[in-house]
Amino acid sequence: MHVLTVASECFPFVKTGGLADVAGALPAALAARGHRVETLIPGFPSVLERLRDAQIIDTYGELHGGPARVLAGRAEGAATTTLVVDAPHLFARQGHPYLGPDGSEWSDNGFRFAALAVVARELAVGRVADFRPDVVHAHDWQAGLVPAYLAFDGRPRPATVMTVHNLAFQGQMPAAWLNALGLPAWAFRPDGFEYYGSIGFLKAGLYYADQLTTVSPTYALEIQGSLWGMGLEGLLAGRAGDLSGIVNGIDLQVWNPAGDPHVQPGYDADHLAVKGAHKAAVQARFNLERDPGRPLFCVISRLTWQKGMDVLLDALDGLIDAGGQLVVLGTGDAAMEERFRGAEAAHPGRIATWFGYDEGRSHQLQAGADAVVVASRFEPCGLTQLYGLRYGSVPVVARTGGLVDTVVDIDADPSHATGFVFDAGDPASLAAALRRVARVFAEPERWAALQRRGMAQDLGWDKAAGRYIEVYERALARRG
Ligand code: ADP
Repeated sequence: MHVLTVASECFPFVKTGGLADVAGALPAALAARGHRVETLIPGFPSVLERLRDAQIIDTYGELHGGPARVLAGRAEGAATTTLVVDAPHLFARQGHPYLGPDGSEWSDNGFRFAALAVVARELAVGRVADFRPDVVHAHDWQAGLVPAYLAFDGRPRPATVMTVHNLAFQGQMPAAWLNALGLPAWAFRPDGFEYYGSIGFLKAGLYYADQLTTVSPTYALEIQGSLWGMGLEGLLAGRAGDLSGIVNGIDLQVWNPAGDPHVQPGYDADHLAVKGAHKAAVQARFNLERDPGRPLFCVISRLTWQKGMDVLLDALDGLIDAGGQLVVLGTGDAAMEERFRGAEAAHPGRIATWFGYDEGRSHQLQAGADAVVVASRFEPCGLTQLYGLRYGSVPVVARTGGLVDTVVDIDADPSHATGFVFDAGDPASLAAALRRVARVFAEPERWAALQRRGMAQDLGWDKAAGRYIEVYERALARRG
């Protein structure tokens, strides 16, 4: 099968969150099963810098305000080809891929990602010989117009699959842009791509794609209800038969405690003592008390309401009472950063913060921490708990979305336990979980058994790749 993946971010080219990890790793897993995959992404500066062996495979004289080229190349050492929309008027902007220097969305984001979708549509219908796929797999709102453009196009088309990584981000654009985006006015209605008076990019994808997926079975159910459906629950419940929940894998090369360039010396489940050296290094680096006996918790996250960072802040007394230490690595809401700064000042040597995005530090924390906390109110899949499992950093997670599907609580099912689960949005339940952690941590053999069971989980992409192939086959059958 030949698959064209379309996404706005892709590791190692550009990353703001889990989408990049998925878009970076799934193609390799599909290729390992003998399928051909290309990934189409925007030509942000970091992408062009990292693209190797680039060749021009197509040009556009005019694409939403300027000329564009389509490049084919690959990341250093990558197994699959990356296609890049090189359109400087849209993408040659330093910094965050979606936000301007003032922290708000670029006002032309609708056109930037419509351009990505136009190029995807043209590749999909065979504009470039040898690049015509059987299936187009679109990720998140930035690629949401791809299935819609193809549905309206009239030319023979591949099957389409839409994956939603987070329903909270929907890409709503003014209705006045209909013509400029090349969308038909007759489909601007609830049974189409209209979303409460706006053009809904994600809604367009979810309405017009042949098959839909999201990144865990529990989240697939949650988004069909009003609590987490974000206004799209009716559409999603109506398409329940076309909607699959597939838990993300992780890239076992990039996240490998035995061979991680950020984590030296490496370790595995039989050499957990090495983890103690990484813990000492983290404690030293973040000015924490150098005490191996304290459970060291870490958070690696956007600092937002979704991620329940206020819930954690409200549970910090529980963490301190339990004898714990905490390192927070993240960026996000200024008010939450401020509260964490206050907590750090109130508990020197016990709480440390680092506000920013740093891939290396995220690996070092997974290696050095005893436990990773994921306090999300909703969580489509979540990746940091999976990295935690792989690095023997025991996950402490909220009972929601993909966290439910990937972590088994020690009291709920001792013989299959991999971590601790608490009630989402409930600081008292989180504080109780932190105390439970401290009690088990005080029993080294029980703790090591928990770590080893986590490290033995099958976390790679191969299983998920097989599920995606099934979805692609259903999409082909549905397209007819
Ligand atoms: P989301 O995509 O909703 O932000 P996920 O848990 O699915 O959450 O993925 C987050 C990804 O981003 C993980 O790979 C995590 O390690 C990484 N990450 C989050 N914050 C930071 C940070 N401040 N520095 C480095 N990596 C981070």
